[in-house]
Amino acid sequence: MAGKTLYIVVPCYNEEEALPRTSEVMANKLRELVRGGKVSEDSRVLLVDDGSRDSTWTMIKSMCERSPVFSGIALSRNRGHQAALLAGLMTARGRADVTISLDADLQDDVGAMDAMMDAFLDGCDIVYGARSSRDSDNFLKRATATGYYRLLRALGCDIVFNHADYRLMSARALDALSQYGESDLFLRGIVPMIGFKTATVEYERAERAEGESKYTLRKMLKLASDGVLSLSLAPARLILGAGLVMLLFALGLLAAALAGRDDARQWRLIAASVWGAGGIVTLALGVVGEYAGRAYLESKRRPRYNISDFAGLSAPDLRARSGADDAR
Ligand code: UDP
Ligand code: MG
Repeated sequence: MAGKTLYIVVPCYNEEEALPRTSEVMANKLRELVRGGKVSEDSRVLLVDDGSRDSTWTMIKSMCERSPVFSGIALSRNRGHQAALLAGLMTARGRADVTISLDADLQDDVGAMDAMMDAFLDGCDIVYGARSSRDSDNFLKRATATGYYRLLRALGCDIVFNHADYRLMSARALDALSQYGESDLFLRGIVPMIGFKTATVEYERAERAEGESKYTLRKMLKLASDGVLSLSLAPARLILGAGLVMLLFALGLLAAALAGRDDARQWRLIAASVWGAGGIVTLALGVVGEYAGRAYLESKRRPRYNISDFAGLSAPDLRARSGADDAR
């Protein structure tokens, strides 16, 4: 069959207002890609209902009945954007040669899919969609988002600037992703760990087309803390560093007390013991944190490597392609 099978994966939570337009725009884009010979005719838009309380799932089901372009899955309850996205990607795994994930509110410009597919056909396994500007955000969101990306970078996380979850992934990138079994998922941090050849495509991010943001402040804070805590031991190391600084300060005070002969000597001795005791406790907490953190990272049982090519050996076929036949 001509072209690769593309699954466009869209997480939807209470998106009844956005879905009519979103589904039309995405189906048209898919048909355009099919006509252009870039993807095969069995490509689909896979809509994931993340336990919506409105008519999202009813709408998805009727769309699937009306047109073979659409497929849908429904989660048993609201599990959050990242979990819904992963559910969609893992459903596409074994059925698709390539997936593109994006939001249901048309903020991610579907026009960037052409460049993404070109990069894929050029041999890239992961293509990141990165927004070229943050004009559509208000000042607060812009400042916090930029600050957050900087923080993650400073903590040593390999993260693509201004990239949310608009992303192309090949079948083998999905196979690799499926091996990351952690439950506190932060895809933006994990996908760069996979490796393989990657590219970035810039796009202009629009305003939400219809309805309101489904990211409550609580969900946003959870995502932000998942990002830091699931990727880095930096908080524990910060405590360790603070303990060291306190100990050094205590040593300085002690030295000053021993050298001096004045009245302040006794005060310095007392201050030195207070800072010294505090420093030791803080340092010990940091050390315990480091061990606990390592145990935590180990418990995720992340894959230690992904093989990208074989030479003089046949590659094992990891993909259960048989799943493609019973897709519909
Ligand atoms: N979403 C989801 N589950 C949730 C919250 C959001 O699947 O619990 C989906 C939502 O339907 C949308 C995407 O995640 O497709 C991004 O959400 P939204 O556009 O509301 O976030 P924002 O752009 O405001 O950050
Ligand atoms: Mg949005």
